[in-house]
Amino acid sequence: MEKSLKDQVALVTGASSGLGKSIAIYLARAGAKVAVNYHSDEEGAQDTVNIIKKEGGQAFAHQADVGDEEEVEEMFQKVFDTYDNFDILISNAGIQKDAPLDEMTLEDWELVIKTNLTGAFLCSRAAVRYFLKHGVVDGISKSAGKVIFMSSVHQEIPWAGHINYAAAKGGLTEFMRTLSQEVANKQIRVNSVAPGAIKTSINEDVWKDEEQVKELLKLIPYNRLGEPEDVSEVVLWLASDKSEYVNGTTIFVDGGMSLYPGFIGNG
Ligand code: NAD
Repeated sequence: MEKSLKDQVALVTGASSGLGKSIAIYLARAGAKVAVNYHSDEEGAQDTVNIIKKEGGQAFAHQADVGDEEEVEEMFQKVFDTYDNFDILISNAGIQKDAPLDEMTLEDWELVIKTNLTGAFLCSRAAVRYFLKHGVVDGISKSAGKVIFMSSVHQEIPWAGHINYAAAKGGLTEFMRTLSQEVANKQIRVNSVAPGAIKTSINEDVWKDEEQVKELLKLIPYNRLGEPEDVSEVVLWLASDKSEYVNGTTIFVDGGMSLYPGFIGNG
C-alpha cells in the first residue's frame, strides 16, 4: 500500500469501535502515527492499537471525553509530547440518545450536543491552535494541517425521533464550513464526511434485524448497507495530499441515501 501519510501524526476520536477504529487502522497503514482516543471502552481502544502495532504501525490509546475541555487539552498535549508533531484530526466520536421531542430529557439533549458538537469544537480548536503555531506548508504534507469531521446524512435529512442528533450534525455542517473559511488561507484544510447507514455498534439493533434491514434498504438506492471501510477509504483520501484542493465541503458516503429515494419511480 502507498504510504500517503508517511510520518504524519493523526488523532482519531472515538476509535475504540466502528468507524473510528477502521479509520485509525487505515491511517496507520498509510504510514501515519495514530493516537487512538476512547471514552470508556479501553479494551476496544487497546485492540485498535494492537492491530496497528501487529501490522508494524505506531499507535497509543488515550482516554478522554471529547466534551470535556480539560481532558481534550490534556489529550492533545499527550499527542504533541509523544510524537512531537501533529497533522490530522479525525473528529469522529458521536452518540445517539433518541426520543421524540416531547419525551426528550434535557440531559439527553445536552449529552448529544456536548459529545457531537461541543466535542468537535474543543478538538478542532486544539488542532487548529497547533496548526496555526507549528503547521508547516510543503513539509511532509502540502497543507499546514487537516481536520475531518464525521458528520451524517442527517446534517441534511431530517430525522424524526432523533432531533438532538440531527441538530448536532446540522450545526456541525456550518461549523465546518465557517472554520474552513476562517483558516483556509493558512493552508489548513477542513472538511466533513457524511455517512449513510454503516454497520457499526451505533445502529446494530437495526442491521441485526432482517425486517428492519429490508425497510432500511428502501432508503438506499445502491441497495446495500455500508461497511466501515467504505468510509475509511474516503477519509484516507481526504487526509492525504491527493485532495489538497478540497476545502470546506462534505463528502456523502451513503449509497445514494441523500438522493430522496422515495421519488424513485414516482410520477
Ligand atoms: P460507534 O458507536 O461504534 O462509535 C462511536 C464512538 O464514539 C465509540 O467508540 C464511543 O466510545 C465514542 N464516544 C462516545 N462518546 C464519546 C466521548 N464523550 N468522548 C470520546 N469518545 C466518545 O458508532 P460509529 O458508527 O462508528 O460512529 C462514529 C461516528 O460516525 C459518529 O459521529 C456517528 O454519528 C457517525 N455516523 C455513523 C453512522 C453509521 O451508520 N454508523 C452514520 C452517520 C454518522
